[in-house]
Amino acid sequence: MLMKVKIEEKFKGKGARRCRLCGTARGLIRSHRLYICRRCFRETAKNLGFKKYG
Ligand SMILES: [Zn+2]
Repeated sequence: MLMKVKIEEKFKGKGARRCRLCGTARGLIRSHRLYICRRCFRETAKNLGFKKYG
């Protein structure tokens, strides 16, 4: 099916910006070149030492 192919392309495409941890495209943070979503960022922030976000 055509739809299936398009979905696969989205996943593999260079332009696909998704969270590296959970794969969602919602609330993606591109600053700091993190490319992770807000949710994952919060968890990662603990380890990185970020405290100002959210
Ligand atoms: Zn995430």
